[in-house]
Amino acid sequence: MELRLYDTLTKEKRPFVPLDAKDVRMYVCGPTVYDFAHIGNARPVIVFDVLFRLLRHIYGEAHVKYVRNITDVDDKINDRAARDFPGLPLNEAIRKVTEQTGEQFHADVDALGALRPSVEPRATEHIVEMREIIERLIKGGFAYAAEDHVLFSPQAMNAANAGLPRYGALSNRSLDEMVAGARVDVAPYKKGNTDFVLWKPSKPGEPSWPSPAGIKAEGRPGWHIECSAMAWKHLGEHFDIHGGGIDLVFPHHENEVAQTCCAFHQERMANYWMHNGFLQVESEKMSKSLGNFITIHELLQDWPGEVLRLNMLKTHYRSPIDWTMKSLEESARTLDDWYRVAADVAPGKPAASVVEPLLDDLNTPLAIAALHGLRGDAAAVSGSLRLLGFLSESAAQWEGRKQQASGVDAAEVERLIAERTAARGRKDFKESDRIRDLLAAMGVAIKDSKDGTTWEIAR
Ligand code: AMP
Ligand code: ZN
Repeated sequence: MELRLYDTLTKEKRPFVPLDAKDVRMYVCGPTVYDFAHIGNARPVIVFDVLFRLLRHIYGEAHVKYVRNITDVDDKINDRAARDFPGLPLNEAIRKVTEQTGEQFHADVDALGALRPSVEPRATEHIVEMREIIERLIKGGFAYAAEDHVLFSPQAMNAANAGLPRYGALSNRSLDEMVAGARVDVAPYKKGNTDFVLWKPSKPGEPSWPSPAGIKAEGRPGWHIECSAMAWKHLGEHFDIHGGGIDLVFPHHENEVAQTCCAFHQERMANYWMHNGFLQVESEKMSKSLGNFITIHELLQDWPGEVLRLNMLKTHYRSPIDWTMKSLEESARTLDDWYRVAADVAPGKPAASVVEPLLDDLNTPLAIAALHGLRGDAAAVSGSLRLLGFLSESAAQWEGRKQQASGVDAAEVERLIAERTAARGRKDFKESDRIRDLLAAMGVAIKDSKDGTTWEIAR
């Protein structure tokens, strides 16, 4: 079976045909590094990691290039830097914030079993490319400088009509309606009310770079141009897959397409636009004010990263996901079972019943259901789970970690089990039941078999 992917632009599932099967190229919008990433941010990381692994499985590890950027220039970063390091010059403080947050992000996503992308470009290292794209856009008549800003004109793009996509096509909006519905208090330097910023002046003390378009004052890039520049530098003018969360379709991705296609006279930027649905917590939108805002870092104190990963993949990536405690507990039990069955077994080929749903637009819930049906074939379970990014530990490591997290003293458990075995030997069932109940109260489940008694932490 061939790989089929849903494309947000054409609103259909199509066979995936790479531009070059020896060099399959994917770009995913990465984090803005100013604070701990929340569990919603983990969704694109995990979803596109599964796609990355699947593409490597199909085309070979050496033939897939995955770029996920780090946005390290942003007002939220500046605010955080000024707040946390008031004694330092702003630029130094900003470096501290972005370095620290970048490291936290890596620690979090490594724990989720996500492979590092092939390249992780930083916005501040691609200012030259941003300026180059901006100059091209001005030359082509798609952008203009005004009051030290450079603005992009969607109306100029749609008027040009020269083998370019239509502005609004990706997000399925009409530019005329956007113009009619735009706010009236538009910044005075904008010629049109839907024009968006490519470059803007920096305030004193803020990070700044030499400006394009002959602007004398130093400035800094707008957000959208960063991704156009980094994608161009690392993947070229036209590549295979562009991904991110559904909230990025408009304006971020619509504007990326506009910039890239107008600068390079392309009809397309990426052949497939993929967007993950949103995550909410216990049926509510996650927000700081509701007090249900959870970071990946906090969740990792209570759950192994693979439990979070499985919990994410039980829902299809395009559907909304409701993140609940109940579902996490279920995911933990499933993984306990998989670790027992397959972690120490040499991996076989991933099972067709698991790979086929994945090929159908990453149907991970169906792949997981198929895994349950494979229990008898431990080698296939092992190989399939590894393809999905699970089983990074041995069964003993997994069980040991659970014991550590539960605070159960393994030596004490062994001693009680020995006492219980002795009680059973002398047919003192009252005593043996008492010990079993005591263990249960400690959160330990025991299982008797002809080879003796085994135990595990009950979830
Ligand atoms: P941000 O740092 O807000 O730009 O987000 C980084 C990535 O996380 C983007 O791809 C967003 O679309 C995605 N994202 C943010 N919040 C959520 C959420 N609640 N559910 C799913 N994805 C999200
Ligand atoms: Zn982006």
